[in-house]
Amino acid sequence: MNSRYIGRFAPSPTGPLHAGSLVAALASWLDARAHGGRWLVRIEDVDRPRCPPSTDALVLEQLARCGLLSDEPPLWQSQRDAHYAEALTRLQQAGWAYPCACSRAEIAQAQPRGHDRHAHRARHTELVYPGTCRHGLQGRPARAWRLLSTADLAAQQALPPLEWQDRRLGLQHQDLGRAVGDFVLKRADGLWAYQLAVVVDDALQGITDIVRGEDLADNTPRQLRLQALLGVQIPRYLHTPLVLGENGEKLSKQNGAAALNLTHPAATLIEAGQHLGLNLQGNTVADVLAHGVQTWRGTMMPASQSPEPLPGSATQ
Ligand code: GLU
Repeated sequence: MNSRYIGRFAPSPTGPLHAGSLVAALASWLDARAHGGRWLVRIEDVDRPRCPPSTDALVLEQLARCGLLSDEPPLWQSQRDAHYAEALTRLQQAGWAYPCACSRAEIAQAQPRGHDRHAHRARHTELVYPGTCRHGLQGRPARAWRLLSTADLAAQQALPPLEWQDRRLGLQHQDLGRAVGDFVLKRADGLWAYQLAVVVDDALQGITDIVRGEDLADNTPRQLRLQALLGVQIPRYLHTPLVLGENGEKLSKQNGAAALNLTHPAATLIEAGQHLGLNLQGNTVADVLAHGVQTWRGTMMPASQSPEPLPGSATQ
């Protein structure tokens, strides 16, 4: 086993897995196995109110029916508050995190010229934080904690640029200040933000390779910034193609994507493989997965990466 590759699948159990989430799970599993590495499952239930009871168990069962079993007992983010608190304290002490009193309505009102302030409702786009509380709360009560993300400060402190070589999308970058602004680390409702929790856990679990859906690609720069500030390992990234529904929209639990049909898990895996451009074959789950690893090696891994060592890796 290649001890230098650790991959993961990190579902938020807000609903059962759908066709889109299985694609990400399968891709991350195949990539881990093709590298001879380990594959971990982490239940991302930080947003507890959005996670119906028992959905975590259901997701794990769906994965198991597809032969996708974590190499270690899964972690639940809802049990890891102390780790996130410690990271926030470090960012506070270093002066990177500051309290914010603004409500969502106030932030929407203050969107920069040219930014459709209602777009976030229709298209789930981000509101850009205008930086109102950067210089103090002006006597208002703190609601959330944010990360200072100004480009000039980052340059002054010689932080690495917010770019990464995505294994599928190529070189990616983002102007964080323009696209998102100072982003939330701890929410007004007291819950940890996804960005902080995911970076802390990926680092503590030693994740070397993140393979996940392309819908998360624009979160990567926020995570790269946190990784740099916390001084942790920067993983490699591969963002997989999105699965679109009949209406052309990305499948998501929010738009009512159907739960996976697992009557014939081998057939469901073959279908998931098609979304990855893989022509998988086999009558049983084990056969399809074994064929998948071979196919993945041939198509998704540059010869220099196959199967080990991992040259050019930022993790070496
Ligand atoms: N929990 C996130 C989701 O289900 C995925 C996090 C990640 O892969 O970084 O959308």
